Order: sequence, then structure tokens, then C-alpha cells
Amino acid sequence: MAVIGLRRCVAAILVTASLTGCAVAAGAAPSPSATASAGPSTPRPSAPAPSTIPEPIPAATPTPTTAPTPLPSAEPTQRPSAGNASYCHVADVVTPSTSYEDPFATYLDWTNRLPAEYAPPDLVNAVTGSRAAGASLLVRALVWPELARLRAAALADGHLLVVVSAYRSYALQAQTFDYWTGVGGYEQALRTSARPGHSEHQLGTAIDFGDGSGAPWDYADWAQTPAGAWLASHAAEFGFVMSYPKGRTAVTCYAYEPWHYRYVGPALAKELVATGLSLREFQSLDPAHD
Ligand SMILES: [Zn+2]
Repeated sequence: MAVIGLRRCVAAILVTASLTGCAVAAGAAPSPSATASAGPSTPRPSAPAPSTIPEPIPAATPTPTTAPTPLPSAEPTQRPSAGNASYCHVADVVTPSTSYEDPFATYLDWTNRLPAEYAPPDLVNAVTGSRAAGASLLVRALVWPELARLRAAALADGHLLVVVSAYRSYALQAQTFDYWTGVGGYEQALRTSARPGHSEHQLGTAIDFGDGSGAPWDYADWAQTPAGAWLASHAAEFGFVMSYPKGRTAVTCYAYEPWHYRYVGPALAKELVATGLSLREFQSLDPAHD
């Protein structure tokens, strides 16, 4: 196919999309937010849970019952094999593009991460769009208008979409990853959560959606539920893409997460969907990011 043309197009979009309209981590246990209060709780270990949203453990993934996996050292010595892509290698390289003005170009994986101090300056309430302090669910201001339209459109079609998890600071992601490491071990946490700095949630443009009836990761495949299926079909129209599609772990590094979407803007989202690529692969088409 016209890879060169696509590269040009992607590069142009990445340059010009400076914010009309875009991370790894994923799901979460039930949110303390009102938007997700209706669902049952994800089973939790006896240890105290983080005060906010931890990453999800897919229901189909068995939790090891043998000897607990030790907590990771700063640099694990063995290379897990979740993905075949070169960037699915556990490392801590600061990702090349960390501009707040162009978050769509920022790619995150097992290797590339955000700096600890990366914190979007324009976070708003993910439910109301308000800048008032105190909200537990936050997204970047550039995300909120389309997020509101997306939820309204879903509701008009009879589907309640709730924000289960949104922005997470580096510190919160560290808590989150430790929590899930405690639940299922380090190897599992790598695939279903993200180490601090490696989560798309730190961008403030990633959202875990639910339908208010339960944690999406408690379903065998949330995309098969009416709300999850609606979202999979319509998300791109509103600029959202599923970061970790089914069967793409080799190129996304992460387990399938039908609830985790990242905002990249409608134009880029539609182009990405047309390619059939995962977001991480799509971002690699930009020559500046090879
Ligand atoms: Zn997520």
C-alpha cells in the first residue's frame, strides 16, 4: 500500500492536529466516582487497595495460586514475552515526544515512558467539564467536548457509558501497578496494567469506559455487551480508539482491553481505523518516531 503516502499523511496530521483533537494502562477496579458506582466490585485482596482506580485483571485470566511473585526490582532481569515488537521490552526510555500541545504523537509501551513530572495543565472534570478542584475523574480539556458528545450519542441509542477511570498521575500509576502486582504477580501486572510512566492514563487522554452494570474487566469480553459493542462501533466518530485490540498483544504489548480508549481526535481516529493498525503501530508510521 501507499506507505509513503500514509506516512506523509500521518506526519502531517500529527503536526497539524495540535489539538483539535491523543495511552498504556487499562481498565481499573470500580471507580469511587459517581459515574461508576452502580457496578459490583472487582474482587480485591485483603491488602488495602489504592484510594483510586487500579488497573483491571481480565476475568478470564487465572490468578496464580502458587508462590507469590516478588515485587519487581527497578530493572527486571528477565524479558517477559507478552509481545514480539521491539518496544515490548521492559525498559525505561523517555518517549521522544512529550509535548502537551501534541499528545497524539506521544507513544507509550513497555519501553517508552513519560517523565514522572508529566502532568497535563488543563485537566477538567471528566463528567461535567468543570475546572473546579476536587474531581476524582479528570481528562484534558481537549478531550471533554467529544467525550460528552460520545456519551450523549450512546445514551440516545439506549446505552449508558460511564467513565470508570481517566487521568492518573505517575504516583497513582505506581500505586496502581503495585496493587495489581500484589493481586496477580508481576508478569500478569505487566500485561494488564502498566508500570509508572508507561500508562496512557498519565496523558489525560485515555479513558476506561463501563456501562454502570459492573466492572468491564469482569466480563469475558466487554465489547460483546450492548454498550461495549456500541462503543467499539462508534468511538472513532468521536475521536476515540481502542488502544489494545483483541489479538494484538504482539504489537501493543498489552492484553486485550475493550474498555480502554484513547482520544486522538476524529480525523486521526478515522484514519487509524481505516488502516486496521493498532494505535502503537500507527504511531510508528511517523518517520520521526521510527
Ligand atoms: Zn485504561
